Amino acid sequence: MIKAGILGGGQLGRMLLQAAINYPVETFIMENDATCPASHLCHHFIKGNITNFDDVYNFGKILDVLTIEIENVNEDALQKLEDEGLKIFPNVAALKIIKNKILQKEFYKKIEVPSGEFVTTNTKVELLQLASFLPAVHKIAKGGYDGKGVQIIKTTADFENGFDAPAVLEKMVDIKKELSMIIAVSQTGETVIYEPVDMVVDQRLNLLSYQISPAVIQERIMWKAEAVALKVVKELKSAGIFAVELFVDINDNIFVNETAPRVHNSGHHSIEACYSSQFDMLWRVLLNYPLGNTDHILPSAIVNLVGEHGHTGDAHFEGLNEVLAMDNVFVHIYGKKQTKPGRKMGHVTILSSEPRELLHKANQIKHLVKVITRL
Ligand code: ADP
Repeated sequence: MIKAGILGGGQLGRMLLQAAINYPVETFIMENDATCPASHLCHHFIKGNITNFDDVYNFGKILDVLTIEIENVNEDALQKLEDEGLKIFPNVAALKIIKNKILQKEFYKKIEVPSGEFVTTNTKVELLQLASFLPAVHKIAKGGYDGKGVQIIKTTADFENGFDAPAVLEKMVDIKKELSMIIAVSQTGETVIYEPVDMVVDQRLNLLSYQISPAVIQERIMWKAEAVALKVVKELKSAGIFAVELFVDINDNIFVNETAPRVHNSGHHSIEACYSSQFDMLWRVLLNYPLGNTDHILPSAIVNLVGEHGHTGDAHFEGLNEVLAMDNVFVHIYGKKQTKPGRKMGHVTILSSEPRELLHKANQIKHLVKVITRL
């Protein structure tokens, strides 16, 4: 059997393992925390630090194919493994571009896809010189995720929130919609694309509030979004699964925000809503099978279940009974013992042919389910 490894054992690794059960594959996870969401679902759990060279290298040496569920991994070890012949998807060149927001932005410029105008800053002092570039968004080059590592700088008064580290300062886009396009690339270079996802962002937490798929957008915008996302993925020249996040501005211009070289939160609906889920699809890529069918079975919405403010400690889910009593609603709890404010603890997918029902249920579920600590 093919030995496949995943660096990282969070919810993405967990859902990837759920899809692996149907394939002839022996699964390996490496993660520091032995109680992580994916640890008990793999054949082999290896405790190790995904940012440590030796840990990643030694992990790779026992595998036939390797993927990631988080970008923050030791790329030098991956480079050595790839040079020695290990199949790694996404490949290391693509990962290196994406891991660093400065390289990522330069890449979009080079391949001539539209992305917000930007300048690079290395220190806070450099940032202070850029008043004429505001309003803008400051994004740390390395290590940001889930809105951490992103600061809105509307006026010079916000400069104090900027990063004193390599970063990009990107012109503020007047966003009408945030879309995500999920695309798979096989080892032989075939591509399939899922229908666009409309991501509604919680501005307070800077985190996905809910998403709707397929996005309700004009066909003209959809074609543009697809063309831009496909170009990004093709130019990355790597097999794997990719989520290209796009902004549509108030004039219907498209901008690439960022790309994830892995399964993505915006694609979780595909587990129930599409014939081949993003997780199933990645196994097809990793194991060198034909790609699956990305069509929707029914339109869908996702609500993320995130830790309530003011609650840090043992996680308790309030309202699950009410949600599980609803039709065509699917609950995913990630198995994280500890909750903290804004932490992704699970998600709920809703299926319906009625767009209004999707929104109605999404709002109901947002109010019903609370991730709290036991009182
Ligand atoms: P992360 O990778 O941490 O999720 P993003 O780069 O996706 O960070 O930014 C998080 C959010 O910040 C986006 O979803 C969007 O709402 C907002 N944002 C990012 N860049 C811009 C921009 N240039 N103009 C306006 N809003 C932005």
